[in-house]
Amino acid sequence: MKADDGEKVQRNSPSESQSSSATPWEFEDLYPQRRGSPKKINWWRAMWGLEGREEIEKMKCERHAYWAMRNHPLVKVLIGALNSAGCEFDMSRHISCETCDNKIAGGFDPEFNQVVICQNVARRRKTVQGTLIHELIHMFDYCVNDLDFKNIRHLACTEIRAANLAHCSIMSAWVSGTAKPWHFKGKHADCVKQKALTSVMSVKKISKEEAMKVIDEVFPQCYADLEPIGRQCRRNSVEPFLVWEEAPMYGYDYHL
Ligand SMILES: [Zn+2]
Repeated sequence: MKADDGEKVQRNSPSESQSSSATPWEFEDLYPQRRGSPKKINWWRAMWGLEGREEIEKMKCERHAYWAMRNHPLVKVLIGALNSAGCEFDMSRHISCETCDNKIAGGFDPEFNQVVICQNVARRRKTVQGTLIHELIHMFDYCVNDLDFKNIRHLACTEIRAANLAHCSIMSAWVSGTAKPWHFKGKHADCVKQKALTSVMSVKKISKEEAMKVIDEVFPQCYADLEPIGRQCRRNSVEPFLVWEEAPMYGYDYHL
């Protein structure tokens, strides 16, 4: 499944945009600052000091992302796994804080192989961390597992994995903070399906029924695939730190 280092270096280089086979981004309007259309200055907002807020939001977002990259065990494990698979990770190249549509906290742009963090929505450190983990799982699947975002089954699979390893484990109090252990398994699986459904429908123009059918089909194998983290980490538990301690055994190469 893994390609050689040479191929990976090429894929993560700035010219990796996969030109003719590039996946056109559906719902591009969610990310107005992408694809070369610079935001027009709104003079009314500028007059009231609202335009300048964007720069402050960007700085805070980048500071939170940098903090997570240096301190959050799962972010470090994911970066280490990307590096050791030959998908060299560089913050200035692979993370972009931007103003997006206010429905979303982030995204992964496969054409530029870049994580987008929506600075106007993900304002808190924990939200930036969760978004980063979610999107780094997409980056891992794209680079290491040859994910094809045009293939709905691949998309459903990576959304299941991201929901499983990030949102429904480390972020969601609904399943990990309040669920009793004997209810955890069922609730967790429900959470993953619901989150994957929302994510698939936010990037693909398909019906809820169609999306759910594909999610159900790929669910067993994608829910069981915990690479490269290796376990589900409950919110506020020591598990993320255990994962980080185990990382050298897998040869993960973490550096910034
Ligand atoms: Zn996603």
